[in-house]
Amino acid sequence: MTARGKDFDGALDRAAHHARVWLEDVGERPVPPRADADAVGRTLAGPLPDRGLAPDGVVDELASRVEPGLMAIGSGRFFGWVMGGTLPAALGADWLVSAWDQNAGMRFSTPGVVAVEEAAGRWVLDALGLPAGADVGFVTGATTASFTGLGAARGAVLARAGWDVHERGLVGGPPVRVLVGAERHDSVDLALRYLGLGTPTVVGADDQGRIRADALATALAAGAPGTPTIVVLQAGNVHSGSFDPFAETVALAHDHGAWVHVDGAFGLWAAAAPELAHLVRGMADADSWATDAHKTLNVPYDCGIAIVADPVPVRAAFGVHTAYLVDAPGPGNPYDKAPELSRRARGVPTWAALRSLGRDGLGGLVAGLAGHARAIAEGMSRIDGVRVVNDVVYTQVCLALADDARTRAAGQRLVADGDTWISGSRWQGRDVLRVSVSNWSTDDDDVARTVEAVRRAVRDPG
Ligand SMILES: *Cc1c(COP(=O)(O)O)cnc(C)c1O
Repeated sequence: MTARGKDFDGALDRAAHHARVWLEDVGERPVPPRADADAVGRTLAGPLPDRGLAPDGVVDELASRVEPGLMAIGSGRFFGWVMGGTLPAALGADWLVSAWDQNAGMRFSTPGVVAVEEAAGRWVLDALGLPAGADVGFVTGATTASFTGLGAARGAVLARAGWDVHERGLVGGPPVRVLVGAERHDSVDLALRYLGLGTPTVVGADDQGRIRADALATALAAGAPGTPTIVVLQAGNVHSGSFDPFAETVALAHDHGAWVHVDGAFGLWAAAAPELAHLVRGMADADSWATDAHKTLNVPYDCGIAIVADPVPVRAAFGVHTAYLVDAPGPGNPYDKAPELSRRARGVPTWAALRSLGRDGLGGLVAGLAGHARAIAEGMSRIDGVRVVNDVVYTQVCLALADDARTRAAGQRLVADGDTWISGSRWQGRDVLRVSVSNWSTDDDDVARTVEAVRRAVRDPG
């Protein structure tokens, strides 16, 4: 059967209809889902039906069953974890990525989308002030981006010690020492585990969760000279939003021959806003960086970005045919710069987001998120019984009440209230309510309503 355009009309028309209904409502509906996964699952119980269903019917059935279980992540009052919304241009581009159905692994086979991803990569490097010759790989998220950067790091530091890990594996080779800050994200430990590098050595952090340069100096000096070493730094602590002191630590690590990887899932984007760029001073001297496009840049899930300054070690680790690359890397295929072979052209929505924002718009987006975070912190600190417990330098605000029990109870009342979503967490020995401002659509009204929601949750003991 030949597929024709009209075969898709029903499914696409219904999908566009449901998408519009959702997007019209997402800023006003209660933010939390009404149904949990078990409740939605009960509407999907039963065996695979014997008879199929027309495409438009499938889309209608899907939309109606899933709707009660949707979290309004696209709402301007969703502040959970660290999750961005979706810019309109990025969403439109994402739909096209599915319609075009290009396997974005090779320049030769899918030149259109590969060229768009390469352009997006150049814009990302430029906007973030990173080296123009770096390899950019589009991956599923910052976890995989860190896996990629640390995979390149592992090969490079072992090669310097005379050990080819890609040829010989890890067994029998020199041990690799990995130093991380006490408040690195859990995904760094995951990536190290996938790479067979085990549990890292933890270096102390200060009261905002920043790695301490003096503690790093001590840890680096403790190793025998020539020990293959990787240092993982952080741009954007999920609780405080703080940034590691790159200007001191990157040079220090390099003095000891270490590879420096930066986890900047949402913080790397501070580099794009002139008023925030001081936070990332010295960061561009690192060797690899992991970030997300699906957080601060507001492209739809999923898109992470793995950036490695020197193409040779990343292609040696992830390239399919590594031997010919070593002298003259050239542009390379997408599958040489990331773990996946076949994948969707997930870098295309990143291009669209950047094209729609422009340099000024991107800086304005990031500075705007940080500005709303400051406004939320100011509003919260005027509520009796609420304290802002971090220095609000970026997009993250942590609140605490008089004790953990009260903080937790207020968090539960906020979820029940539904006008906003703020995650409960634990930071530095106390329960906190954590606000992450990551959505492009958050405005002053959302900020005011959020402060009011917290005021209600604190005032009404339930
Ligand atoms: C979200 C986050 C990650 C993990 O990113 P994913 O996209 O979920 O893989 C890593 N580090 C930090 C600091 C994060 O905020």
